[in-house]
Amino acid sequence: MKTSRIALTFCLLAGIACAQHVDATPASQPTVPQTTFVIHAGTLIDGVSPQPKRNQTILIRGNRIVSVSDASTAAAPAGAQVIDLSSATVLPGLIDTHTHIFLQGEDPAEGGYDIQLLKYPASFRAARATVSARRALEQGFTTIRDLETEGAGYGDIGIKEAVDGGYIPGPRIFAATRAISTTAGYPLEGYAPEIVVPKGAQLIDGPVEARKAAREQLGNGADWIKVYMTHRSWVDDQGNLVSQPTLTVEELKAIVDETHGWHKKVACHAYNGLGLQRALDGGCDSIEHGLDITDAQIAQMLKQGTWYVPTLSVYYYDWAPENTEAGRRDRKRAAVHGPSFQRALKAGVKIAFGTDMGGMPWTDPIAQEFAREVEFGMTPMQAIQSATSRAAELLDMKGKIGVVAPGAYADVIAVPGDPLADVNVLKNVSFVMKDGQVYKPAPR
Ligand SMILES: [Zn+2]
Repeated sequence: MKTSRIALTFCLLAGIACAQHVDATPASQPTVPQTTFVIHAGTLIDGVSPQPKRNQTILIRGNRIVSVSDASTAAAPAGAQVIDLSSATVLPGLIDTHTHIFLQGEDPAEGGYDIQLLKYPASFRAARATVSARRALEQGFTTIRDLETEGAGYGDIGIKEAVDGGYIPGPRIFAATRAISTTAGYPLEGYAPEIVVPKGAQLIDGPVEARKAAREQLGNGADWIKVYMTHRSWVDDQGNLVSQPTLTVEELKAIVDETHGWHKKVACHAYNGLGLQRALDGGCDSIEHGLDITDAQIAQMLKQGTWYVPTLSVYYYDWAPENTEAGRRDRKRAAVHGPSFQRALKAGVKIAFGTDMGGMPWTDPIAQEFAREVEFGMTPMQAIQSATSRAAELLDMKGKIGVVAPGAYADVIAVPGDPLADVNVLKNVSFVMKDGQVYKPAPR
């Protein structure tokens, strides 16, 4: 019932007719007959294979893909609903491994970041996060790793529960909850020292507090732990990007040890320098942003199997005026980022697609990141795989998401045109199925 309600609500919100799909039933209710779909794919990019396949038939029962076969040999079972995507390119549902549904781009003219924590009721922020989650889904992103709520506590767990319970449409969410940094390591900042202001992350000092924060967050449902290993950054007299380190190696190791004990992983925001080095020495599972990575650090990432989630596009947003300290920093961040990405890619570092959506407005296309990945050396197929099978590996969901293959969850999208010729067609997702339910029907 709940799942039927969301699909219908989504169709109403999108102003489209898709009543024929509202009877889809989740696999968790095995006594109810499961809907069978047959999708005819003109071109299939399955998320793993190096080449696309032409004229494929995908059979879906309930929330799982049953088979993928050549259209000439496939027969539709009686009673199956046929979805004709024979003139489109079909792909697995996309995965964004670095988002913030509780942020909305923070236009300085609208009060920037601080107003979120100082003036908005939690319900207002949750309502907007609900819209962000829907936007991710309607753009074909059927899974996100949401890397902290920015002062909204455990709000991401509530949104995830609402999606999973069928109350609102949204992607699968891997939630990081509050994130961890140190004293003087996270906003709000710049207020009179006598005034106690809220902070956008949980601040710790010392390994005991670090472990306790990880325990609290894991105990309250965190799927990942997010740690800020660098905070402020600036350009020094020699023109180098410098970043303030936050946690010590000992503090980070306490978090990593605790989190790995729960069989969960740690994502570390780290720009460069000492903070990035501590992130690697302390055993972070993924480096977020990694603006300026040395060759020695790339070698260490390869040796340790560390993931790199670069988030290139967001550093081209909202540059401060050119001849200011902040303006020099903003330009330098973007200038060193692309070359770091190129060297990491060439060396074979594992790279997953991530955008930092929320750091930029959710009204902007998530898929803009693909063009940046290609600009800095990925083939279009590598870029697509960074948001499908590679991202699934980072999330320990290999074979379950990010692939169109038997046994995987039925997360399937389509775009008109050829994303291997122009990755920007991924901005125009025309069909979305998540978990065997159609959220955006095929155009007629
Ligand atoms: Zn972020």
